Amino acid sequence: MIKVRFAPSPTGFLHIGGARTCLFNWLYAKAKNGKFILRIEDTDIRRSKKEFLDEILESIKWLGMDWDEIYFQSQRLSLYKEFAEKLLRENKAYQEENKAVVFKVEPHKIKIKDLIHGEIEFDTSVIKDQVLIKADGTPTYNFACVVDDATLGITHVIRGDDHISNTPKQILLYQALGFLSPEFAHIPLILSKEGGRLSKRKGATSISEFRQMGYLPEALVNYLLLLSWSPGENRELIDIEEAINLFDIKDVNKTSAVFDMDKLNWINSQYIRKQDPNELVDIVTPLLIEKGFVKRENLNREYILNVVKLFQNRISTLAEFIEWADFFFKDEIEPEPQAKEKFLNKDLSKEFSLFLNRLAQLKEFNPQTIEMEFRQLVKDLNLEARQLVHPVRVALTGKTVGPGLFELIYYLGKERTIQRIKKWIKR
Ligand code: GLU
Repeated sequence: MIKVRFAPSPTGFLHIGGARTCLFNWLYAKAKNGKFILRIEDTDIRRSKKEFLDEILESIKWLGMDWDEIYFQSQRLSLYKEFAEKLLRENKAYQEENKAVVFKVEPHKIKIKDLIHGEIEFDTSVIKDQVLIKADGTPTYNFACVVDDATLGITHVIRGDDHISNTPKQILLYQALGFLSPEFAHIPLILSKEGGRLSKRKGATSISEFRQMGYLPEALVNYLLLLSWSPGENRELIDIEEAINLFDIKDVNKTSAVFDMDKLNWINSQYIRKQDPNELVDIVTPLLIEKGFVKRENLNREYILNVVKLFQNRISTLAEFIEWADFFFKDEIEPEPQAKEKFLNKDLSKEFSLFLNRLAQLKEFNPQTIEMEFRQLVKDLNLEARQLVHPVRVALTGKTVGPGLFELIYYLGKERTIQRIKKWIKR
């Protein structure tokens, strides 16, 4: 049976690269009916933090992945000691004065058949003797990794390209310990659009940040998939169930991937469109509460739902929703300076008052009747519709773009509309 693992170190948050490695492992296990193991590489006591561990596990779950087993290296220290002693007894390692255990590297030519890159050759004569157990008694990454992968029965090691140089060192250890090597698959790096590795400086990198910005987990997973894999036929949208059916690790690209925020935004917008608006309400409500736009105690779900529906086809993230739909939730709105400059720069009190009177007298208040009154008014005033549409929009929303004016007046409600326009008449 296929057994794979994701082995994060809880020394930082789960970032895009780690999440993709996790996803490809998980997907491979699912695709092959295998097992997916999580191994927490927490032997660096100083740098490992509980908050990082929690975030990593939360993010993996939020992305929709689960694991069959979980191990913590910090709980397996005696195992690494045992294997180090074995190597000492067999004279394959030596102990330094400071108690560190060091592996003797013999010159060898090593060939690995990487499932993604094909054959890679290494000459171990350039590798120095390797520390297995440090003076403080904790194992090094390469040693703990091999002992764990071997004793946990990992069949395929799928990890980032940045570990390629570790692989020959690890193969030497498999041989010295008398273990069979697993298969290896090194996934290419993710570069930023400007070139170079992804970094905090160039924008969000951790999964929890994307979560906070209002990306949907399904969309992020879809995007992570496309970083280095493709379902074929130039398809960009694929749900996870279908990906499980199509995925094979050997189809992963060899060349580095480029992180493209515009594409992620496009994919996210497509998932937002498809999503049941009721579920979107569940996701945006905490964001609205956090912003102080609505109160937990007296939520008007129906109202939020209507606003969500109004924006669902226009936004690419839910953070954008909060930004663009803010006027539906604020008591006071302040128009953006350019919008005010452009559309509310002359006295429109007469036109606004006439519009208000018509609205106030409406017996049936709905988008159609509002539109009829509005069109009649501009006709009477001998104006073109847009001469009044834009100023009214800015007065009501503070913005120059947004949903259709008559619909938004309807959902904003008669009271609020009248009150906001009145404010402009006074000014
Ligand atoms: N803890 C290592 C990392 O975070 C794991 C590498 C591996 O998968 O072997 O990169």
